[in-house]
Amino acid sequence: MLNSVRQLLRGAAFAAAAASLALVGSPAAFAQGSPPPFATTKVQGTDNVYIFRYGGHLSMFIVTRDGVIATDPVSLQRSGKVYFEEIRKITDKPIRYVIYSHSHLDHIAGGKVFKDAGARFVAHQNAKRQLEKIKYPDVVIPDESVGNRRDIRLGGTTLELHYVGRNHSDNALVMRLPKERILFAVDWIPLDAVMFRNMPDSYPGEWEEGLKRVMKLDFDTMIAGHPGKGGRLTGTKKDVEAVLGYLTDLSAETKKAAEAGKCFDNAMKEVRLPKYEGLNNYGIWLPGNVERYCGYWGRGF
Ligand SMILES: [Zn+2]
Repeated sequence: MLNSVRQLLRGAAFAAAAASLALVGSPAAFAQGSPPPFATTKVQGTDNVYIFRYGGHLSMFIVTRDGVIATDPVSLQRSGKVYFEEIRKITDKPIRYVIYSHSHLDHIAGGKVFKDAGARFVAHQNAKRQLEKIKYPDVVIPDESVGNRRDIRLGGTTLELHYVGRNHSDNALVMRLPKERILFAVDWIPLDAVMFRNMPDSYPGEWEEGLKRVMKLDFDTMIAGHPGKGGRLTGTKKDVEAVLGYLTDLSAETKKAAEAGKCFDNAMKEVRLPKYEGLNNYGIWLPGNVERYCGYWGRGF
């Protein structure tokens, strides 16, 4: 998601949250009332799993004895370079892998510095296909692609890559650290937020099935692509359940509106989900979310 609005909305929250987290290698001082532009945080209960935040985007990386597994090199070459330098402050071991969570450019366009340092890039096969088609100049094309499952093993760490179907794109990889019981899933299981605008590139119906598959995976901690309320960096299975609840209710209410002949415009104005009004971006993006499900229930796409 490209969402400067969300970043603005969350700006004030970051400072408070950042102050309560163990920051590693972040700028020593940050302006009063505004969050540092980026920060690296060790995930609680681990000694080698980190979250890198740049603005409102999150990536996970793991330092092993034989090198680093990084994910999502953020949106621009400039931010990718910051990410690389943040990893370098923690270890001088080689960065062996960069794994893309999905093909959306706001999460992956800063990879060049990692490629120049010799990392191998891995993504789902549909992501590789899509990126080869677009040939966006700043995006490193994956060296390797994954179908439904693959394990990355490095220096005593196993990172499982799972494809659980189509959702916010047709190419998201869910990453699980079985020993650490951590899951990394970007954009399609948001923390405390409705979906982005009119859910471009999405697959309603299939999305909910993927959430149920994720519920069956074993993990305690979830890292998403963007922080939640108060700048929180991690969630749990409860957050997966909450997203499933939101989509299920959004779908049911929009279906009713479609059956009453209200799609698209009237449904977008009228459908309200008061149970979820505390979610980030509810006011601005709920109508877009309704629009997407109007397409699903009213037009069959
Ligand atoms: Zn995305």
